[in-house]
Amino acid sequence: MLKPVINLFVMLVTVVLVTAGCVSPPENTLSQVSTIDALLAGVYDGEITLGQLTARGDTGIGTFDSLDGEMIVLNGKVYQVKADGRIYTPPPDITTPFAAVINFRPETRLITGSGLDYPALTRFLDRAAPHRNLFYAFRITGRFAAVRTRSVPRQQQPFPPLAQVVKTQPVFNLKNVSGTVVGFRCPAYVKGINVPGYHLHFITADRRRGGHMLGFRMLPGAVVEIDCSNKFFLVLPESRPGFDRADLNADRSRELHQAEQ
Ligand SMILES: [Zn+2]
Repeated sequence: MLKPVINLFVMLVTVVLVTAGCVSPPENTLSQVSTIDALLAGVYDGEITLGQLTARGDTGIGTFDSLDGEMIVLNGKVYQVKADGRIYTPPPDITTPFAAVINFRPETRLITGSGLDYPALTRFLDRAAPHRNLFYAFRITGRFAAVRTRSVPRQQQPFPPLAQVVKTQPVFNLKNVSGTVVGFRCPAYVKGINVPGYHLHFITADRRRGGHMLGFRMLPGAVVEIDCSNKFFLVLPESRPGFDRADLNADRSRELHQAEQ
């Protein structure tokens, strides 16, 4: 009689351990620091460390304290594309004012049959990622005839709004490169919190160049990996006066369009 009871106890402990294991790192969860409208308003003070960020996900995009470049997180490693166009690997105690990561476990893997530019890739992904009201993460590895990226320069207090910063953004035109696209498609209802639609960053295979993607011509044969998430985890700044002062009532759709293009 004792043996079934022991077996039941072992089973219960196993269930509890497996459930606890799901909490960190989280599964099917997009984890985000602050909001896109706060970033547009010039809230560039870093909130959480890169070490804390990568504890919640191994793949993602964002920026750094004082808007010091574009972030790409790939295989758990954080890359920083600074305004000089070069890539740095910042230490884990550097902070971020805005970033989103996921523990990337692709459910779908496809190979592209034709060359795709940015609009054609979004149509391809729209078909491959059909749940338009859920979050999707993408990792696309391939060869590119051309990639146009940008970065943003480190800012000083008082921080100007993002739409003003990007007027002088450095743009990089890369030719004949291999590399990886990392990014998300967020549902329309995240307006104000994240970027509705596609937001993609790029890093070359040699990890020397990259940035926020503005346009590209991708060659056929790229590997497209897709991970859908139905959970969203948001960390808001709690100790930074910039966030308290920011006007987050305004509709910043036009500013977002300027900042992303
Ligand atoms: Zn970006």
